[in-house]
Parts: sequence; structure tokens; C-alpha cells
Amino acid sequence: MIDQIEKKPIYHYRPGSKLLSIGTFGCNLDCDCCQNAALASSGPEGRAELVTSPEEIVSFAVQKGAQGIAFTFNEPVVWSEFIIDVARSAKGRGLYIMMNSNGYVEVEPLTELLEEVDVFKVDVKGFTDEFYRNSCGGTLSPVLRTCHMIKEKGKHLELAYLIIPGMNDSREEIEGFFRWTAELGRDVPVHLYRFMPAHRLSHVRSTGMGAMRDAKAVAASHGLRFVYLSGMVEGDEHQTLCPNCGALVISRAAKDAPEKVVYEGTRLSKFCPSYSEIEDRTIEGRCASCGEFIYKYP
Ligand code: SF4
Repeated sequence: MIDQIEKKPIYHYRPGSKLLSIGTFGCNLDCDCCQNAALASSGPEGRAELVTSPEEIVSFAVQKGAQGIAFTFNEPVVWSEFIIDVARSAKGRGLYIMMNSNGYVEVEPLTELLEEVDVFKVDVKGFTDEFYRNSCGGTLSPVLRTCHMIKEKGKHLELAYLIIPGMNDSREEIEGFFRWTAELGRDVPVHLYRFMPAHRLSHVRSTGMGAMRDAKAVAASHGLRFVYLSGMVEGDEHQTLCPNCGALVISRAAKDAPEKVVYEGTRLSKFCPSYSEIEDRTIEGRCASCGEFIYKYP
């Protein structure tokens, strides 16, 4: 599948570029809220088999005009060896490599991945060990370690946090997440997801827009510069505004968002809409009005 990088969602790396999205089956966590349980909790049994090679994947991406390859849908670390092979095949073909991960990975495989992968989106599921143990089958500290290692290696990182009513949305937990993120880097973009009933949490209500905006205000109080309400197609919660002068520096418009739903008068997608128009108004990653840094220009 060819996607825009914004759909991952990644907003501060090569805006508007296209990538080939691929995934398999399986995950090393078991989240009650999983939106991809059909892929994450199963194997390939009974499904059409696709046998391919790293070289074929790279050639297919080039042939389709993609600028990158994304490992996504299920958890990429379960097939990290193959990702490394694809990344090595892609060298010299002008393609970047992206991973959409839960960040729950041992130091050794992560160290190998960091040599080859350019862009990471890491989902932080909650900000207590209790939440990770009870709702995801894991623990928090490996995820935080992963994020620190990505930053230390100088690779591009964006974070996501799914706000689930009554489960990981206490003021204390949200504060803790943003305090930690600010220490990681105030320029790290954060995508706040709105929960929709799914998997073992089909009985839990959706997150209200008020809670989403409250969380964004907490992020602002910790000095975070780029915080987005993911899945929005109206308003300016999905636009990049210059944190210094307020100018619109990267605009995203979704003419057709097939997954969009209406909630409290606001249209937003269940996951992330495919933005049909991306306008990068920066000058090589800096605000055209005041020169403020927005993203690292390749
Ligand atoms: S980490 Fe992601 S894919 Fe894996 S179980 Fe959790 S939500 Fe599903």
C-alpha cells in the first residue's frame, strides 16, 4: 500500500512524501485497546501467502514512486531481521526507512535497527507500569529506554499517546508523560489519539474532545512545541504552526477522508486521515516568517 508519511502519522520528516507500507502478523504486546488485533493477535494461517525478498520490496517501492518504506500495521520488531535486510537493500536507492512501533524491544536488536532505520513513530500506551502490565502485557521502562536511544542516535522520532477514558487519562499520568517528553526534547512531535471502542475495550466510551484539548493544554504547559490531535480533518489541531510567531508553516487538508466520522460537530477519522494536500511553507525546514526551526531538512 502506498501512503503519505502523514498517515503514519509522521509530520516532521519529509512532509508529503510517499512510502510503501508493509506489515505481517504478530506483536510482542497484547493491548486491550488494539485496533489491529486481526493482524497483531494472529498468524498467517489461512491467508493468501506472499513470498517476497528484500530486493523485490525495494524495487516495488521505487517502481511505485515511493520515497520511503514503512514497517507498520503489526509490530515491526517481530521481524526486525527482515527490516534490516530491506534497509540494507534500499541503501543507494534514495529510500528512507520508517518503523511504526510500540518501542518494546531489547537493547541488542534495537541497536541493530538504529543503524538502518531513519524514522520512528513510537506509541507510548500509558505512563504507569500498572497500565502496561494490566492492559498491554508489558512494562513501561523498555519503551522509554527505546525513545532515549532513538534520540541519542540522532534518528527522527515522533510519539503517539492514545487517551483512554478512565484508564490512562488521569491528570497525574498525562502530566508525567508530558514532563518526560519535555525532558526528551521539546521539539519531539506528539500525536494524541482519541480512543474509539475496540477489541477488549468495546465497552469503554470514546474520548471526548474536551479531554483531548485538556491534554494538549497540559503539553503546552510543559513547553512542548508540536502537539497534534490526530485524525482531525478540520480546525487547526492537525496543522503545524510556528511555535515562535504562530504562522501556518505546514498545512494538511483532507478533501476525502473515507474513515471520517462526525463527533461533537467535528469531523475526525477513526485512525489518521489521508491528507490529499500537504503544503510545506517552510524554507528548508524553517519558518518563512521568522526563521524558527520546524523540522530537519534532509
Ligand atoms: S502494540 Fe499495537 S499492534 Fe501490538 S497489541 Fe498493542 S495496539 Fe496492538
